Amino acid sequence: MSEHDIVIVGGGISGLSMAFYCAEAGMRPLVLEQRPEAGGSFSSPRYGSRGREFWLEMGAHTCYSSYQNLLGIVEQCSMMGDIIPREKVPFSLFVDGKVKSLVSSLHIGELFLSAPNLFRLKKDGESVRSYYEKIVGKRNYDEVIRHFFNAVPSQPTDDFPADMMFKSREKRKDVLKNYTFREGLQSVARAIAARPEVTVAVSSEAVGVRREGDRYVVRTAGGEEHAAAKLVLAAPSAVSSKLLAGADPELSAHLSTLRAAEVDSVGVVLKKDALSLKPVAALISPGDVFFSAVSRDTVPDDDYRGFSFHFRPGLDDKLKKQRITEVLGVPMSKIEHVHVKTNTVPSLRLGHHEWLGKTDALLASRKGLALSGNYFGGMAIEDCVSRSKSECERLRG
Ligand SMILES: Cc1cc2nc3c(=O)[nH]c(=O)nc-3n(C[C@H](O)[C@H](O)[C@H](O)COP(=O)(O)OP(=O)(O)OC[C@H]3O[C@@H](n4cnc5c(N)ncnc54)[C@H](O)[C@@H]3O)c2cc1C
Repeated sequence: MSEHDIVIVGGGISGLSMAFYCAEAGMRPLVLEQRPEAGGSFSSPRYGSRGREFWLEMGAHTCYSSYQNLLGIVEQCSMMGDIIPREKVPFSLFVDGKVKSLVSSLHIGELFLSAPNLFRLKKDGESVRSYYEKIVGKRNYDEVIRHFFNAVPSQPTDDFPADMMFKSREKRKDVLKNYTFREGLQSVARAIAARPEVTVAVSSEAVGVRREGDRYVVRTAGGEEHAAAKLVLAAPSAVSSKLLAGADPELSAHLSTLRAAEVDSVGVVLKKDALSLKPVAALISPGDVFFSAVSRDTVPDDDYRGFSFHFRPGLDDKLKKQRITEVLGVPMSKIEHVHVKTNTVPSLRLGHHEWLGKTDALLASRKGLALSGNYFGGMAIEDCVSRSKSECERLRG
């Protein structure tokens, strides 16, 4: 059995930012990640030969100047110089085989009548549907806006708490309003994982947690055991619930009440000249088998273009490939590279604030145990990093 200051389960941005803060506080964290690479939804696989690589975002793609905690980490990792702007190309609708602009699809009269509600209405206690229907008008919401909202967590968002979907946060004035990184977002994950105080054990799936005296012992699928007085679970809520089933049935049962959606993402790379589609940030196709097709056109490349199709779960591979070729208007033979990835995104509901209150009340009486992830204050990157920061502070006492 190996001994550590702190063991963190999950090598996405929640677990990695937790590792970063714990290392800053003088601990030597061990991060267990089940996949062969750290990053989780920070996934920017590379295609092509070294020095001439094309990367594609299979998960998160955009950061904002309001991501102050993330930026703090980026600064400490000496990566501010890697921040690059995103090309201003549109988020467009894809309807009946044609690309349409968002504005041309809106009912402008209805929008003008409803928009003043933005200054009157509060998001508290409202669902995304109940709030935004009043801001953009019912027809605009149903026909256009909700499909853009559904594309954010790749699932229906009508019942999400309105205040957890988009948050206003203080912005940093010295940073681009929205940006990405020269080698994609996963480069941030790689930089944190490479810090000397942080150890990331990849291909290490945690399968069980038990208490031994005042320590937690985490067992992996490979039969290894890692012990520490402090344990952080930064995996999807269902995984954390399962891991805690024996060691903490009460917290495990509470975590099990939360729902999440799987997003089946298929990334495709093709030669620029194979495609006639105008540059877009993403295509959103109402009622389709995919929630969005996010493009690499925001960081144009001389030779290649790439698209990540975020599909509804459980679809047949053949159907997915067929839909990709229909939307892009190219045969499969023109697609040079395919990458697949499954991400887990929480399905937040009204009442989540109360759920969160109970979670933190339960955690307050558990010494050495912390929870992080994208199911606390919200699912944006900054929500994950902020959660890790406050949980690290709580663990330090
Ligand atoms: C398609 C998509 C696009 C998005 N776009 C944006 C965006 O543009 N901007 C933004 O702010 N946010 C965006 N988000 C949201 C944001 O990226 C995520 O909420 C965030 O990255 C989640 O990080 P996490 O570490 O909590 O979870 P994850 O990234 O899911 O990481 C959890 C990690 O735990 C590992 N794990 C699971 N079980 C185990 C186990 N038993 N043992 C060991 N390891 C385990 C997983 O392999 C994974 O690496 C997007 C999300 C998705 C899915």
